[in-house]
Formats: sequence, C-alpha cells, structure tokens
Amino acid sequence: DLTRRAPVAGPVEVASAAEAFNAMAASLEEAEQARRRLLADIAHELRTPLSVIQGNLRALLDDVFPLEKDEIATIYDETLLLSRLVADLRELTLAEAGQLRLDLAPVDVAGVVAQSMALFTAQALEKQVTLHTECEPDLPPVLADADRIAQALNNLLSNALRYTPEGGTVRIIASRARQSVCTVPETDMICIRVIDTGPGIPAADLPRVFDRFWRADRGRARAHGGTGLGLAIARQLVLAHGGAMGVESEPGKGACFWFTLPVTPAPVTFQPRDASYS
Ligand code: ADP
Repeated sequence: DLTRRAPVAGPVEVASAAEAFNAMAASLEEAEQARRRLLADIAHELRTPLSVIQGNLRALLDDVFPLEKDEIATIYDETLLLSRLVADLRELTLAEAGQLRLDLAPVDVAGVVAQSMALFTAQALEKQVTLHTECEPDLPPVLADADRIAQALNNLLSNALRYTPEGGTVRIIASRARQSVCTVPETDMICIRVIDTGPGIPAADLPRVFDRFWRADRGRARAHGGTGLGLAIARQLVLAHGGAMGVESEPGKGACFWFTLPVTPAPVTFQPRDASYS
C-alpha cells in the first residue's frame, strides 16, 4: 500500500542533510585536530623540565659533580615547574570545556583591584616600579566569581610587573567599557585595563599572546618559571563570565591588557503605576 509508506526525502532534503552531516564531520575533525595539537604541545612542554631533571640526576649519579645544594635546587625548581604546568593545564582544559565551577555573586570591582594591588605592592617596591590605580567612582557591581576575576587580574599584573623595568609604572584602570578601548558595545560592561611601561609586544605577535604555551622569548620566560599558560587561562576565565580580553601595544611603548565583565543585571522590582495603590 503506497499511501502508508513513510514519506520519501526529496533531493532538497537529501542535500541539506548531507550538508549538515559534512558540517558535523568537519567540526569533529577540527576537534580531533585540536586535541592532537594539545597533546603534542603538552608533550613538548614536559620534555624540557624532564630532561633538566634527568640530566642533573644522571650527573649526580655519575659523580660528574658532587652532591651540592645548587644542583638539588635546580632539580627541585624543575619539579615545581612541572607541578604548576599540571595545575595550569587542568584549569585551562576545565575552562575551555566550560566545566569551571563559578560562584557568581555581585562583585565590587574596585575591591578586587585594591586586593590585587596589595598583593603586588612588595614586589613592585622591590623592583622600584610604581603601582597606580584609577577606579571610576560608583562603578556598578559585576556578576562574577570574585576569586576567578582576581586570578585573571593577578595574572595580568604579574606579567606587567615582570616586563616593566626599574623606574617604570604599572597602572590599573577600572571604568565603564568604552567602544574606543574595547571592541565590545558600551552597554553594561566594566573594563579593567592593566597598562605597563615595559618593552611592549610587536604587532605580529599580538594575535598569539593568548595562545597556550606561546612566549615571545622561550628562554627568558622559562627563567622566570612561567608555564606559558597564564594569559590563556586568564582569557578563558573572563570568557566564562561572558566578558572579553584583549591587548593593545606598540613596541617600545608598553602594553595594555584589558578585559571586560558584564554588569550585574539590576533586579526586577515591581513598581506600582499609581502611588495610591501602594
Ligand atoms: P608566561 O608568562 O608563563 O610566559 P603568559 O601566557 O603569561 O605566559 O604570557 C605569554 C607571553 O606573552 C610571555 O611569555 C611574553 O612573551 C608575552 N607577554 C605577556 N605579558 C606581557 C607584557 N605585559 N609585556 C610584554 N610581553 C608580555
């Protein structure tokens, strides 16, 4: 009985199903490529600390040098780097997969900025770098996980301090987001900027600074114990809040790392139209 048969897909339906299938296959292939790239990156990053540890232990075993504190300290430092790498990778992969638990609450940005400043005051003093804050008065609260926001800001601050030479200045500016600063609409956002007077970043490198494991100068970055994941994590933390992160820089004129956060939506309250009803 022909009338009771399931309807047969016409050429248009078949074509659009094939298109959807191809798109799905392409995105799976892309995900698989990203996974392979991540594994290759991790393997590469693990190799250096492991070979330093192995080399030093081998030399100690072979009595190439006597058991001195310096050599043991080198090995210990490399194990610390490995621990940081593992912790950072966990954080980054959770954030990228959208599995980070955020305790969202209205957060006073000026308070977070003040706390971060306090955290870096000693380091700045030691390095003779001036820390400076400008918070626009009466900033509305943002809906955020205060610890995660502090973590993102601390990451930017720690980089800014590291790259700013003695006598330089690091400024944190918190204000309502403005189109001229950030490429997001002005509405309901707060923008936090960390501006330094360090060497800046060449234009060609700007699109890569947030890539995991990317460093302008591998050797120098390793010397300070960086994992190359700091900015990637900071960006993911901000993205998880519905914000954005970016950088503007001119070589020789310092760098400005910025991020935005959505303002806490105002609670909807019932307003009687006529005062006599209340
Ligand atoms: P790490 O600091 O561990 O190398 P990050 O992800 O924090 O990793 O930074 C990546 C790279 O971006 C750094 O190695 C450095 O080359 C560059 N960078 C970050 N912040 C600054 C800054 N304020 N000024 C100049 N270069 C920076």
